[in-house]
Amino acid sequence: MVIEKNIKNNQLKIINNQLIRIVSLLLLIIFGGCKARQLTRPTPQMDIEPEFWVRVLLLNDVTECTLKIASPFSVISHDPRVPGVRNYSDRLNVPLKIEMSAGTITVAGQPLTDSEAIILPGAPYIFNLNGNDYRGKLKLQIGPDGSSFDAVNLVPLEPYLAGVVGAEMPDYWEPAALKAQAIAARTYCLYIKKRFGRNRAWDVRKTQAHQVYLGVIAESAQIWEAVNGTYGRVLVCKRPDGTEGIFPTYYSSICGGHTEDSEHVFGDSFEALVGRPCPYCKDVAKRSFFYWPTVQFDKAYVTARLLRRYPKLKQLGEITNIISARQSNYGKFSRVTLVKLIGSTGKSDFLRAEDFRLTIDPSGSKIKSAICQIIDWGDKWEFSSGIGYGHGVGMCQCGAQAMAREGKTAEQILSYYYRGSKIVRVY
Ligand SMILES: [Zn+2]
Repeated sequence: MVIEKNIKNNQLKIINNQLIRIVSLLLLIIFGGCKARQLTRPTPQMDIEPEFWVRVLLLNDVTECTLKIASPFSVISHDPRVPGVRNYSDRLNVPLKIEMSAGTITVAGQPLTDSEAIILPGAPYIFNLNGNDYRGKLKLQIGPDGSSFDAVNLVPLEPYLAGVVGAEMPDYWEPAALKAQAIAARTYCLYIKKRFGRNRAWDVRKTQAHQVYLGVIAESAQIWEAVNGTYGRVLVCKRPDGTEGIFPTYYSSICGGHTEDSEHVFGDSFEALVGRPCPYCKDVAKRSFFYWPTVQFDKAYVTARLLRRYPKLKQLGEITNIISARQSNYGKFSRVTLVKLIGSTGKSDFLRAEDFRLTIDPSGSKIKSAICQIIDWGDKWEFSSGIGYGHGVGMCQCGAQAMAREGKTAEQILSYYYRGSKIVRVY
């Protein structure tokens, strides 16, 4: 009996312990999950030097937008003639309309005193623009014609990267692939900012024209780990003038089996940006993305798109023939790098294949790469036998994931796709 009772007590204890474990696990899942989704992770680097802030063009040439901020915020004008700061602490979490009115930007009906203003949220330095959360500050700037404005996100480099890495790669990918992505994206952004930013009021677009930036929604614990784990690290290589420095660390989704020389696609030449065999991406990419389906476009549509984007082509008239004028041959496939357009007037001109592809299909989701055949199909142009996704220069993202799965580190992945490059810290 005593033994039996002890056994029963022990069984009860085991059941109790199991219950406690299950309840603890549930609590952990509920609260742990909430914690992972919290938006209140403080925005780092708010006091870093201006050279490490990024200006991301969020809205271009708009006449209205909606702003919502959960913390007290200020609207700062740069006009030296008027007291420039207006504080808002009573409008928390209220959608405020920003619009053009009589040549001025108004915020919640109050006109700005200047053609530009900065909206600075208090900690954790997050604002919501048209339903999307972003970190840092928001700059509003009237366009040159005075009838519309741009909205530019001023954000320090590391929180900017959290919004990029999580948009460019799934956060469940291997940590080494995410880290390689963070270093490539950090370098690319700094390069574009230094090379082109000085001539305009913003550094990068939020689209694949540069790199995709979604703001806070792209963040997760794994993404922050990749960003923080590579804090301040960038790639450098020997540049054409003999000096060592950062370079445009292009990357694309699926190279298709061989990456491409930058010189053939973008016209810039760097030692680290020469084509490399990539036996990796085929293992990771979805088959329907690796081998993309045939697509057709009406000839009239193709001519209209090209003429609108490139007015110099008007002398060609109707485009009657499209020929691959230059291609890279990697044995298994040819990537078209230059196309010759021949028009009804008998005149002809050339376009880079990437520019041609993205003019006809700006999203790049139909004509997924320039590894394809261009076929005259009556009143349509057909793009068939397509392989890969993206321009193919630099790191192959699916290839990086495959290498990481094999146990390669971020450093090994980067030195494979950017040959001869090395990692240095900028802060
Ligand atoms: Zn690849």
